[in-house]
Amino acid sequence: MITLGIESTAHTFGIGIIKDKNVLANVKDSFTTESGGMIPSELTRHHEEINEKVIDDALKVAKIKITDIDLISYSNAPGFGGCLSVGQDVALKFSKKLNIPMVGVHHSVAHLEIGRMLFPKCKDPVLMYASGANTQIIAYEGKKYRVFGETLDQGIGNMIDSFARYIGLGFPGGPKIEELALKSKNYIELPYNVKGMDVNFGGILTNIKRKFDSKEYKVEDICFSLQETIFAMLVEVTERAMAHCDKDELLLGGGVACNKRLQEMCQIMCDERGAKCFVPPNTVLVDNGVMIAWLGRIMHDAGYKTDYDKLDYYPYQRTDDIDVFWR
Ligand code: AMP
Ligand code: MG
Repeated sequence: MITLGIESTAHTFGIGIIKDKNVLANVKDSFTTESGGMIPSELTRHHEEINEKVIDDALKVAKIKITDIDLISYSNAPGFGGCLSVGQDVALKFSKKLNIPMVGVHHSVAHLEIGRMLFPKCKDPVLMYASGANTQIIAYEGKKYRVFGETLDQGIGNMIDSFARYIGLGFPGGPKIEELALKSKNYIELPYNVKGMDVNFGGILTNIKRKFDSKEYKVEDICFSLQETIFAMLVEVTERAMAHCDKDELLLGGGVACNKRLQEMCQIMCDERGAKCFVPPNTVLVDNGVMIAWLGRIMHDAGYKTDYDKLDYYPYQRTDDIDVFWR
């Protein structure tokens, strides 16, 4: 059975094509800027303009025809309304044209399920989901993917991107901040904002902007200290979630998890508590269509499909709103 998954929640329009557990294609086109950040209307326009090309490219990579597709899935939550609507329209078009079922799936849940698919030994992980807009520590308990800790304000990636934009680096800023951080080992103390199981980033952002403006600090030192501080915050709440849920597997997800220093800190924490750390390849950590295809497939196998007359997308739907009926 061949499934085509459509990812369109934010900056990325991605198409994943899978045949059962085999990935046939993972193609995407992401919105970027040289300066300035993401503007929702520009993201929508990007997805509208690029979707046909990304689908054609994915079919070529997979060496199949569109008529070979048996199932369409698309991310219907959470994200920018305009972006989600493009994905849904494309899914509906092909579902009707090819007369095949369509399944709307939750993007954050897809990050967790793709890890379980990629790593057979990763059976019941705690997911550290560190992306642009989303920062959550998620684990399965009582038929739901529950949120054990999360950001109280912005996502960790958006915060890094905001600082990058402030110092003139464009979008996405994460990889550029990582490069600058590698040039320093000089830690400047920053606010450390863990509130119980939650974190927040706004105060730290204000603090580093002031430090940057003061010209008293080297930008490499600020970037190094930023990474050390905010990654330590995430690792702290993740470790507590693992202890609380008595789970000994950690899975990483989200674009910020591409960061080698964050991966290293997670590995150290897992080694110290005798847990396993699973890190998907970068192409699956960032927003991608493969994870959408896979979650659509397992929901379909459990008997689910999205009816045309109940079609909708949910910009603010939470991870723990979803009933995990397929597990
Ligand atoms: P996502 O929303 O999951 O696709 O992830 C996008 C976010 O990941 C953006 O905020 C990027 O700046 C961030 N990001 C990508 N690569 C890195 C990296 N190497 N280090 C830190 N953040 C990164
Ligand atoms: Mg994501």
